[in-house]
Amino acid sequence: MNSLGIYIHIPYCLHKCGYCDFNSHVAREKEMPDYVSALLKEMEIASNEMDIDSEIVSIFLGGGTPTTLPLELLEKILIRSRQIFPLVPDCEITFEANPASASLEKLSGLRRIGYNRISIGVQSFQANELVTLDRIHSPDEAVTAINWARQAGFDNLSIDLMFALTDQTPETWNNTLNKALALAPEHLSTYNLMIEPGTAFYGLQKNGKLKLPEDEQQLYYFQESIRQLTQAGYQHYEISNFAKPGRECRHNKIYWNNGNTFGFGAGAARYLNGQRSKNINLPSDYIRQIMQNGDATESTECLQTLDAMGETLMLGLRMLEGVNIPQFENRFKVSFHSHYQEVLKKLSRENFIKLTEDRLALTTKGLYLADSVIMEFMN
Ligand code: SF4
Repeated sequence: MNSLGIYIHIPYCLHKCGYCDFNSHVAREKEMPDYVSALLKEMEIASNEMDIDSEIVSIFLGGGTPTTLPLELLEKILIRSRQIFPLVPDCEITFEANPASASLEKLSGLRRIGYNRISIGVQSFQANELVTLDRIHSPDEAVTAINWARQAGFDNLSIDLMFALTDQTPETWNNTLNKALALAPEHLSTYNLMIEPGTAFYGLQKNGKLKLPEDEQQLYYFQESIRQLTQAGYQHYEISNFAKPGRECRHNKIYWNNGNTFGFGAGAARYLNGQRSKNINLPSDYIRQIMQNGDATESTECLQTLDAMGETLMLGLRMLEGVNIPQFENRFKVSFHSHYQEVLKKLSRENFIKLTEDRLALTTKGLYLADSVIMEFMN
């Protein structure tokens, strides 16, 4: 069986956070029913073209903020997905939530319908940091949303946190980690704040109005996350992700293993059998194009073997278990050790990688410099 993941993009948010470079737009309630109709149409077309020996092992509603959609629209999406796609019985069905758009009623409804995993964007448990981050919820609202999720019956819950923030100190980061641990999520993601071109923060930084911690301090926050979360029983399984045993995000693992993924919605990307394509970003254009032509693809790219090999390493090396070499060789019909002989020698000498006959992974030193180490395989 060919296992696939489905990503569904919900491009609406209550407010555009200053650091956000995702395809998210301030919620337009009137547009939402049309958006979901377009989504369902796009999904239906894809399901008719799907290989017969495929099964869906995960569905991930990301955004944007999926919880800005009314419950009945979120219900429609899942009901239709079940009707048209072959979901495995224990399919992981995640949605992302923002504390400002969650309610006990909505979360209970979502759990009842069959969503079984929730990922809550908390980012920080410090009120001042949330303000600086331009978030519209308070730490208390985040705690309440997590408690509601538990009350609603979610036993697979993830919290997103962010470090390397303006005004953050080692004490406040420790405090945020401790508060998160006290809530006992099954999964935690800790991201380094990145300033991306086109965001409000980018402009502030350029004008000298936003100062981020030095590299050394950022490294400290990263190391501290690993130390504290692993000590608390979480497995550090990907650069930014930690999970209780057996609670890794199945959807993201498909992505990091460069597996096949459908992507539906405005700006959504899909990767199917070596072909990557992406939809147009603007929700109103997406709706129009899907309704008129059944297709809103903006770009398609057929990866050449060498690019696909590089990309598989780039994604796979993000995971601490690294890349399975026999699987890689089987997929690309190359001898891994001979093909990458020179770079493997160099990176081993510098203690950036751990290499065995059947696995390649980054060492702790390699993880800290993952981006530049991984680039060595792309040259
Ligand atoms: S809630 Fe998330 S997706 Fe929406 S604007 Fe903020 S960071 Fe972006």
